[in-house]
Amino acid sequence: MTAEIIDCKQIANAIKAELAKEVAKLSGDGLVPRLAIILVGDDAPSATYVRGKERDGAEVGILMDVYRLGDSEASHRLAGEGDPNQLTLEIRDLIDRLNGDYLVHGIILQLPVPDGVDEGMLLASIDPRKDVDGLHPENQGRILQGDPRYLPATPHAVQQILVRTKNDPGGKHVVIVGRSRLVGLPLANMLVQKRAGGNATVTICHTSTPDLPGYVRAGDIVIAAAGQPGLITADMVRPGAVVIDVGINRVDDATRERGYRLVGDVDHAGVGEVAGAMTPVPGGVGLMTRVMLLTNVVRAARESQRR
Ligand code: NDP
Repeated sequence: MTAEIIDCKQIANAIKAELAKEVAKLSGDGLVPRLAIILVGDDAPSATYVRGKERDGAEVGILMDVYRLGDSEASHRLAGEGDPNQLTLEIRDLIDRLNGDYLVHGIILQLPVPDGVDEGMLLASIDPRKDVDGLHPENQGRILQGDPRYLPATPHAVQQILVRTKNDPGGKHVVIVGRSRLVGLPLANMLVQKRAGGNATVTICHTSTPDLPGYVRAGDIVIAAAGQPGLITADMVRPGAVVIDVGINRVDDATRERGYRLVGDVDHAGVGEVAGAMTPVPGGVGLMTRVMLLTNVVRAARESQRR
């Protein structure tokens, strides 16, 4: 069997078109959705992701402000020449200012932040109504309670891919490899809920799972979110299963000008012979994640009218 490669670009474009319409309507009413992104340190992939977010925002008419806390400045402080907490406080001040700015509807602290910066405290200091990444404890708790405000973008992307390709998780056995706060855990919560896009039976695997192939083989839908290139191989996948590859990993590749290429957690050549459908990397969940973030920004802008 040759797996259908799910066209995430087409799904992303359809959602972007829906969003562009809504943004045009809001803007016509004098409400232009605005997102503030805080980028700290010199993590190259983060800088790339932020550029992507800026491009996507511009495409649908969302205003984007990127606050860069200079890399050399940040590293300098973190090298111990100043108080390592100083940078945390500076970011906190910026978040406080953005929380109070009624023209800003969403705030993102781009992760990861450099070592020594108090990520948990900073995420918790974002006004939950502006926390469009859905990482504030209140918003995470609301997902658990089945009353989400903002669904985190990557889990939401996975759910939308399934629903929009008529692979509804309802009644299926979904096996998720990875239990991170960012991806695996919220996704498991979302898929198990008794509501549209949920109703799955969910198994979560991690590094202490004794027989990973055995669990993965039991999945009608397999979601790989481990950050391990090629972890999911053909022998682990039930024939006809739907495989969603969340992984984005850099592997050295001397044939590429930049010296690396991006691969997922799934061995695409092998699994493609067994699975019924699978998402590509790049151009799969990553692409959809960026769009689902925009839906949260638009929602935040819309909700701000009610305050
Ligand atoms: P984390 O490192 O935070 O979590 C990885 C999870 O996978 C952990 O729960 C870990 O288990 C589990 N895991 C790792 N290796 C194995 C293994 N060999 N067997 C079973 N479980 C394993 O990663 P993230 O969740 O942040 O990201 C995962 C991947 O998704 C990365 O490649 C990342 O780049 C990508 N990503 C992609 C996004 C997108 O937009 N497409 C967005 C966010 C992330 P344990 O808990 O036991 O350590």
